[in-house]
Amino acid sequence: MANVADYFGSMVFDDKVMKERLDGKIYQKLRKTIDEGEQLSISVANAVAVAMKDWAVEKGATHYTHWFQPLTGITAEKHDSFISPSPDGRVIMEFSGKELIKGEPDASSFPSGGLRATFEARGYTAWDPTSYAFIKGKTLCIPTAFCSYGSDALDKKTPLLRSMQALNIQALRVLKLFGNEDVTKVVTSVGPEQEYFLVPRELYAKRKDLIYTGRTLFGARPPKGQELDDHYFGTIKPRVLAYMEDLNDELWKLGILAKTQHNEVAPAQHELAPIYTTTNVATDNNQLTMEIMQKVAEKHGLVCLLHEKPFKGVNGSGKHNNWSIGTNTGVNLLTPGETPFENAQFLLFLVAVIKAVDEYQDLLRLSVATAGNDHRLGANEAPPAVISIFLGDELAGVLDAIENETEYAGAKQKYMKLGVDVLPQFRRDTTDRNRTSPFAFTGNKFEFRMLGSSNSIACCNMMLNSAVAESLKQFADILEKSEDFENDVHNLIRDTIKAHERIIFNGNGYDDAWIEEAEKRGLSNLKTTADAMPHLLDEKNVKMLTSHKVFTEAELESRMEIMLENYVKQVNIEALTMVDMTGKQIIPAIETYLGKLLKNVSMKKAISENISCAYETANIEKLSAACDEMSANAGILERLADHLNHIDDIVEQANFVRDEILPQMETLRDYADAAEAVVDAELWPLPTYGELLFGVR
Ligand code: ADP
Ligand code: MG
Repeated sequence: MANVADYFGSMVFDDKVMKERLDGKIYQKLRKTIDEGEQLSISVANAVAVAMKDWAVEKGATHYTHWFQPLTGITAEKHDSFISPSPDGRVIMEFSGKELIKGEPDASSFPSGGLRATFEARGYTAWDPTSYAFIKGKTLCIPTAFCSYGSDALDKKTPLLRSMQALNIQALRVLKLFGNEDVTKVVTSVGPEQEYFLVPRELYAKRKDLIYTGRTLFGARPPKGQELDDHYFGTIKPRVLAYMEDLNDELWKLGILAKTQHNEVAPAQHELAPIYTTTNVATDNNQLTMEIMQKVAEKHGLVCLLHEKPFKGVNGSGKHNNWSIGTNTGVNLLTPGETPFENAQFLLFLVAVIKAVDEYQDLLRLSVATAGNDHRLGANEAPPAVISIFLGDELAGVLDAIENETEYAGAKQKYMKLGVDVLPQFRRDTTDRNRTSPFAFTGNKFEFRMLGSSNSIACCNMMLNSAVAESLKQFADILEKSEDFENDVHNLIRDTIKAHERIIFNGNGYDDAWIEEAEKRGLSNLKTTADAMPHLLDEKNVKMLTSHKVFTEAELESRMEIMLENYVKQVNIEALTMVDMTGKQIIPAIETYLGKLLKNVSMKKAISENISCAYETANIEKLSAACDEMSANAGILERLADHLNHIDDIVEQANFVRDEILPQMETLRDYADAAEAVVDAELWPLPTYGELLFGVR
């Protein structure tokens, strides 16, 4: 096997390739577009397109596609070949600047929430030069943003880029006040840790629920689950290791910095983490990672489950969003500095995040709300639906001292005074990190842990960036007018802590007492997607997001509708799948077993009336009743699902799903799971939890 360094990024049209293959002047122009967002002329675009095409064709590519992220949650592509007829009746490979910059996919089948008027059903894709083009299979993929003809965003990338821009503008204002004249750009970075399950392909193929919905809708608890915690960081099984190695290779070729891999808490559950990069690129890379994870699994006879809760009663999968803000001069603004002045700057950025998270709890919560993630948030392995911030004792101590002007152990003065005292360096202490916090400060970054494993990281980051931009804007507005900067910064930090200390919680987030306490503090607790999503249109949220030009009001309205539609559709598919499996697989299997029991009874009776049939009789009664109940409850579920079509308003549909359909699914499931525990394993039509969770050896 070749050296990783030799093939890392070999399928990416990255800076190195650009430099090698582009004329010096063209390269400079392109760099300006990438780094500073300068408009690209068509002649430069043409030159770049030709170089890209030549490079891709040499690597075996025959097609190109604009690669984008519509609101369905997955990526979309439409392949066009490079071929073009030549006069001699043969073909040449062509690719123009126009084709690179703009695409016109037939977009009418992507969700738009009414944004694309029917007379203009098309949308267009626009090249995002800040994320490198890459080759997947035989196709050159060009990362793009996806918009309507009225320039409304129809994707996740456009608002993310806008939010990064908003944060850049406001952070630069603040940094200037601190005298950072050399900083010209501020970007946010993310390292997403991705959890997933691997199950044997042949077992997966026997479960319609996994195939149609990504999760098991039925399944009794196995005798052994995760209670021993013996899987976590345990030895990785050879077959899984082979998968991981193969996966890493594929990701490395695509320039994705896959770094760590280990087993997770649940059996068959694993995690992959890349090294962090610019949020926009991290988002593209994460989408690509999820896709490649599934593809490579297939090659290994496995299926990679990215659903947030594939198995009831077993830990679900999340995605930890490690987020920080940095400058183009290489400074992480969430790292305490070495001088008192730098520390004041650090603390100001820190409280900007605290303020943002407190004021926009609802936006962060709804940014991770999906039907799948609803099963996870609040379950005992995942953070609750309440958002709070963990700072750690050391930092909490510093803030406390500033807030109350009380003595701080490290301070020269009686109390901690910014501009005078040096903060302690915060060592990240791995032993006492709070795993139960949804939003934790981990030394030089914040880790947002509420994301579901299948969520695009774009959604939470656009909200986080925007909310922090708003805090920074308010700070800059005050400080730009300041006549006593040091003093005003100090007061601003103190007042911000005072105003938002309710969001800080260093205790156990999984404790029920915390939920009560959070309520007393007035923190929001939006338990489901149906509860959370409508808050996107709350006045304060619309005001903030539109004022930073991250969304227009129309985009927000359409987005809320699409997200709720996704939720309703997902649950509806689950309900119909349950009805189908109940009628076609589960009841027939139970009936077969009943037949076997009945036959045994009559055979026993033929020998002697006195032979005991207690076992058979009890189970015949139990299972007959179960079949009746299941049939009746599946009928109810089917009618509820049908009723959904008669509700017009999307918010009411979502509420109906939450209040009627999901509880009815639970009722039906309980009967089936109880029956599974009794019926002959040979006759049970679905691979069991035990087989799925312990089947990969
Ligand atoms: P943990 O032990 O908390 O999981 P790691 O050091 O393994 O922490 O990092 C987890 C993720 O956080 C990785 O993807 C890593 O690249 C990312 N990360 C580290 N530093 C930063 C940073 N400054 N900004 C964003 N992400 C970061
Ligand atoms: Mg982590």
